[in-house]
Amino acid sequence: SPRQSALAAAINYAISSPPVDFEDVPPQEYYAANVFTKSVMKDRLPKSVYKSLMMTIESGEKLDPSSADIVASAMKDWAVEKGATHYAHIFYPLTGSTAEKHDSFLSPTSDGSTLSEFSGKQLVQGEPDGSSFPTGGIRVTSQARGYTIWDVTSPAYILENPNGTTLCIPTAFVSWSGEALDKKTPVLRSMQALNLQAQRVLKLFGHADGAFVASTAGPEQEYFLIDRHFYFARTDLVTAGRTLFGCKPPKGQEFDDHYFGHIPERVLAFMLDAERQLFKLGIPVKTRHNEVAPGQFEVAPVFESANLAADHQQQMMSTLTKTAEKYGMACLMHEKPFAGVNGSGKHVNWSLGSSSQGNMLDPGETPHENAQFLVFCAAVIRAVYRHQGLLRAVVASAGNDHRLGANEAPPAIISIFLGDQLTDVFNQIKNGGASSSIKSGTLTVGVDVLPPLPKDSGDRNRTSPFAFTGNRFEFRAVGSEQSIAGPLVAMNTIIAESVDYCATKLEEATQGDPDALNEAIQSLLTEIITECSSVLFDGDGYSQEWHEEAARRGLKNLPTAADAFPELVKPVVEDLFEKYGVLSKRELHSRFETYQEQYCLKVDVEANLVISMAKRQIFPAAIRYQSELASTCANLKLVGYEFDTDTLDSLTSLVKALQDSVAALEYAVADEQASTMADEVRHRCDVVLPSMLAVRQCVDALEGVVADDLWPLPTYQEMLFIK
Ligand code: ADP
Ligand code: MG
Repeated sequence: SPRQSALAAAINYAISSPPVDFEDVPPQEYYAANVFTKSVMKDRLPKSVYKSLMMTIESGEKLDPSSADIVASAMKDWAVEKGATHYAHIFYPLTGSTAEKHDSFLSPTSDGSTLSEFSGKQLVQGEPDGSSFPTGGIRVTSQARGYTIWDVTSPAYILENPNGTTLCIPTAFVSWSGEALDKKTPVLRSMQALNLQAQRVLKLFGHADGAFVASTAGPEQEYFLIDRHFYFARTDLVTAGRTLFGCKPPKGQEFDDHYFGHIPERVLAFMLDAERQLFKLGIPVKTRHNEVAPGQFEVAPVFESANLAADHQQQMMSTLTKTAEKYGMACLMHEKPFAGVNGSGKHVNWSLGSSSQGNMLDPGETPHENAQFLVFCAAVIRAVYRHQGLLRAVVASAGNDHRLGANEAPPAIISIFLGDQLTDVFNQIKNGGASSSIKSGTLTVGVDVLPPLPKDSGDRNRTSPFAFTGNRFEFRAVGSEQSIAGPLVAMNTIIAESVDYCATKLEEATQGDPDALNEAIQSLLTEIITECSSVLFDGDGYSQEWHEEAARRGLKNLPTAADAFPELVKPVVEDLFEKYGVLSKRELHSRFETYQEQYCLKVDVEANLVISMAKRQIFPAAIRYQSELASTCANLKLVGYEFDTDTLDSLTSLVKALQDSVAALEYAVADEQASTMADEVRHRCDVVLPSMLAVRQCVDALEGVVADDLWPLPTYQEMLFIK
């Protein structure tokens, strides 16, 4: 059977790729070797062109179109020297994937020969046939097409492939009328919005040096690795990315021995190889380790500017996937590939900073620095408090629904963990504000020095969806398969709004008088913390008590994607995105439509898989065993023995239950009477998914009864423990 051959192949696997040789080239030499970096540009571009390009990249100035031809030609020469034959505009459609369209550098000439060329126009703008990507109604297929536009702030790079090398150019994907059809455009717009507002606060603190304030992101990626033979022996993994059936292994993650154990040889070889490729692409991967579940791992880069981090994250996911194949494994990015075993998330660490002022969420050592830190920190608290629903909605997906709130990942209630010390600081501010006289022991901004907050200050609260971790916030509800762009857009924009609010309040109160600043800050912080402190929670986010307490506090609890999607188009959210020029109402609604559609498609594929696997793989195995038991029973009777029919009885009733549950699922899939997309989502969430689970329960019970040699699917035990 496919399972048995997969088992044999997995057990006998030997690494065939030669080990990565670390002595041939020192890492310093290959780091960013395949990137059209600033230093390559400096070497290859005329000084004036280089300067104007840097103004665009570093300060967000408008791109000078006259330099495009020169940059294109330098870029092509560099790429051709590295063996590139084609160039590709890379873009990020709303599906969360990475798309590319390749074009050759060669153009035919009239005399029958060819010319290698790459013009400024080809660099700046492309016309991919992106008509198959969902656009949520913005662009009807028959209408004008979409364009890709060069993103100067994310460097071009070379993608090496044994079968051809390509120059890749990160681009934004927009409609002819300039509406965003992709995930990158709103990231760029939200970064602009945040910068604009942050500048106002910095100015109040006397830091009007104009250096661009960028949001920064460091995403930690969790993933599973299993032998590829098992992967291909399971249609559910190949098609849906997760197992739809399977019993928990007798020994799972209970002993925590995987987390602390050494990294298996083959996995280490894979990691070294993937890391080297990522290094060449200038992606600063830093951390790697085993994760909680058997077969689960994590990789994290050093943080970068949000737009770059988002692009690099996409490259990271495809590099991990491709490299796993090379080592005979499949890399599973799904949020919950195995039921009953820990799922995978993507912690998105977020902060904001500029080249001159550094990280603005780093508590400083002087009262002045602390006051600025507290203003930004309060802005984040206010933003999360006001937009809990949006933050929940941007991590909503069919896959992440299996993980959020499942006692292994943050709950679906959005709250903030501040840690003891910072909570104490804000409590003091709150109490100070409540009484008219400032009592002793109460912190006065600008006078007292914050106790030095140790970085990583005791933050081991893994249950919080949004945690302060010493010098940044960590958004932990993001799913492992998701693009980080959506969460970044949400964070940048809600915080831009709050920073705007703070700046306006402080400007009004000070009227240009710097001496009035401390008092203004004191009352602003008091006001914010009084209004928003219900979103602060340092306890156990998994507990039932928290769910009750959160309800009492009036926090939103949106357990499923079906509950969360409508938050995307609440009037406050429409106004928010429109006000800061991040997404127009139409663009926002197109996302709402697309994400709901994606959800429905995913669940439909899974439901159909459950039906076909149950009918064509599980049922036949079960009745074969049933018939074996029945004939044994009949034969024994014939020669005068009694046969205990318990096993046969329970098998027979499970087979019956399987048939019934499959019939019920088929009915649920067919019986859709939804009139709106939101109803379609609801139907899948409330009717189809529970019906799928009912089938699964029968199948998993059968796995515990049917003879092992008849069982068709690789088991959890085999997939998770054989490497
Ligand atoms: P942990 O597992 O303790 O959360 P990791 O080292 O795995 O820590 O990940 C922390 C991530 O946070 C890294 O990607 C790191 O670069 C990132 N990070 C650190 N400082 C900032 C910052 N100022 N802005 C954004 N991300 C940051
Ligand atoms: Mg972390």
